[in-house]
Amino acid sequence: MLEMVLRRVGDVSSAALERAKRALSRELEFLDIYIDYRQLEPTLKAYDWKRKQYVASKLLMDLGRVNNALTVYLVEADAYEGNLNFVFGLAMPLKGIAGVFLRRLRNEFYGWSPDEEKFMQRVEKEVLHEVGHLLGLEHCPNPKCVMSFSNSIYDVDFKEARFCNLCKLKIYRRFSA
Ligand SMILES: [Zn+2]
Ligand SMILES: [Zn+2]
Repeated sequence: MLEMVLRRVGDVSSAALERAKRALSRELEFLDIYIDYRQLEPTLKAYDWKRKQYVASKLLMDLGRVNNALTVYLVEADAYEGNLNFVFGLAMPLKGIAGVFLRRLRNEFYGWSPDEEKFMQRVEKEVLHEVGHLLGLEHCPNPKCVMSFSNSIYDVDFKEARFCNLCKLKIYRRFSA
């Protein structure tokens, strides 16, 4: 079993953490996942005051890894990385750390009426996607696969909260048994 800890940064609901855990256990049975319910604070030095966004990799590095467990953060904030305007999430496989940034997964960000269930589905998809990267997967050309690259919230909504058979096979070849 591969150990993984889910943590939250800022005002993230326990329901979102639990939803992420359920999706991960469903898709990746070899993970041994536990939730750290403490509410962590984002570090100010990872904040870009000009853009009013966090620098994703900086923030995740500041938050760090818990022992030898793969460490996955749900972050109530907006973030960017390199020359990308924003990122829904980021994975650093060599560090064993990944994060999903929730601000742009909410309907409210786009001026639409709130939809908690839709939000939860997006959280599931983006967590599965970043954990897929943590486990060594690249982007998948199948637009329904959770490993397809999402440029917009429409792409996130289009894909499913599961790995296609090819991606699943790649993961299980490396990590099961
Ligand atoms: Zn990706
Ligand atoms: Zn795939």
